[in-house]
Amino acid sequence: MNSRKVRVRFAPSPTGPLHIGGVRTALYNYLFAKKHGGDFILRIEDTDQNRFVSGAEEYIIESLKWCGIEPNEGVGFGNGDFAPYRQSERKEIYRQYAEKLVNEGNAYYAFDSATELEDARVRMDGSFSYNSFSRMGLKNSLSLPADEVKKKLDAKENFVIRLKVPEADEIHLTDIIRGPILVQSAQIDDKVLFKSDGMPTYHLANVVDDYLMKITHVIRGEEWLPSAPLHVLLYEYLGWKNAMPEFAHLPLLLRPDGNGKLSKRDGDRLGFPVFPLSGEFPDAKTGKPEKITGYREAGYFPDAFINILAMLGWNPGTEQEIFSMDELINTFSFDHIQKSGAKFNPEKAKWFNQQYLHKKNPTELADHFTPILQTKLAVGSPQLANKEFVKTVCSLVREKATFVSDFWTLSSYIFIAPSEYDSEVIKKRWNEKSKSFFELLIGNLNKLSSFKITDIDATIKQTCEQLGIKTGEVMQLVRVLVSGKGSGVDLLGMMELLGKDEVCKRIEKAVMVISK
Ligand code: GLU
Repeated sequence: MNSRKVRVRFAPSPTGPLHIGGVRTALYNYLFAKKHGGDFILRIEDTDQNRFVSGAEEYIIESLKWCGIEPNEGVGFGNGDFAPYRQSERKEIYRQYAEKLVNEGNAYYAFDSATELEDARVRMDGSFSYNSFSRMGLKNSLSLPADEVKKKLDAKENFVIRLKVPEADEIHLTDIIRGPILVQSAQIDDKVLFKSDGMPTYHLANVVDDYLMKITHVIRGEEWLPSAPLHVLLYEYLGWKNAMPEFAHLPLLLRPDGNGKLSKRDGDRLGFPVFPLSGEFPDAKTGKPEKITGYREAGYFPDAFINILAMLGWNPGTEQEIFSMDELINTFSFDHIQKSGAKFNPEKAKWFNQQYLHKKNPTELADHFTPILQTKLAVGSPQLANKEFVKTVCSLVREKATFVSDFWTLSSYIFIAPSEYDSEVIKKRWNEKSKSFFELLIGNLNKLSSFKITDIDATIKQTCEQLGIKTGEVMQLVRVLVSGKGSGVDLLGMMELLGKDEVCKRIEKAVMVISK
């Protein structure tokens, strides 16, 4: 690694909602920066005005904030020494570099209209490339006489500036994850760097900003690997080869059931989110507004979400799967990033959330559960006002849940006394002795001055002994009479929580209904 202070950037284009693959790129940048005491920057690459989608930038910022990937500097996170961080606000910077490239013979003006390029494409049977083989037959400052070029520029004719890619050169680069890469320059076309509307294209703006912002490592998705050799050429031509960042191209996220790239369609089809937050954005193809579901709204905890993403393409080299952000920072390295695509497994994603849910403390869970309870229980309900009660419900149900949204189904009978009783269990277990057992049990429970799990347990056992019944024969009935259900949370824990009066009242009512 070079000796400069590590500075990395996440550089999304605000062309739609941020895909989870993008969040993973941001995460790996963040982990790498933190591990090396470096800086992590958020740069918004919005030079392509045609693809700009309103709300996308805010969505990116909110997503990063939600999952705790906080940049040190960048749009939405405060200025460092390199502001502005939105490329549309840096417009003036790029032109001088485009002109420097032209002046030094490494780029040129091209005046071909869209129709002329289309004609060339048709002439070449679709195999057309603007490159060293075709450029002299097209309309540019290399093929036209100098005075004609000057005339066109003076008349402010539309132009683009294209990189003059050498005819036969070898471009070498080393990717941290993929190793040495050799590309023949003949495979690269003369990419547009700058347009007459005053805007740079991605390639120029990206390289100029990485240089000016002193970026040491470019960590981005594999889809940008084909652009890397072009960027290497730009560093060379701009005289920045010594300051060129190291490259690390991350494996693609693949859909669960094939080798295709994970898309919104896969999520819709298989029922899992591919975005961090819910929202509404125009569909990339039709432009129609479309709702998207996010991990946040699906009930994932941000730390579980981070853990899920971290393991998509990276592993610690051990069996450990659960990592806090700090543990990830300590353990993360490029050595264990895989080259091949990472298959997304929605069931595993749920498993991660479940692991986090089981470890959460009841106070935090109660904070998440309370808004749900507010929609289910009457305003002013005493249980809702009793935080300790809600917390205990949370600790009773969390072992059986994957999301906090499962809590209501798992615990509604704790809040609302049942009026129906599992008929299968009643049919199987209710016999001639049952009524007297429960009447005696109510009497014994009522005598208790302390209503703890151990007291309740001892009283049930004692009542069984009095009537010569085995405890095993009545326990499920006790559950059904108190909760209406044949299975559920820890029975004695639930009874302790409900309290003596409520438990006796429930059993009394059940005996009446069942023995009617
Ligand atoms: N603006 C590019 C994107 O939207 C950035 C690629 C890069 O990191 O160089 O992904």
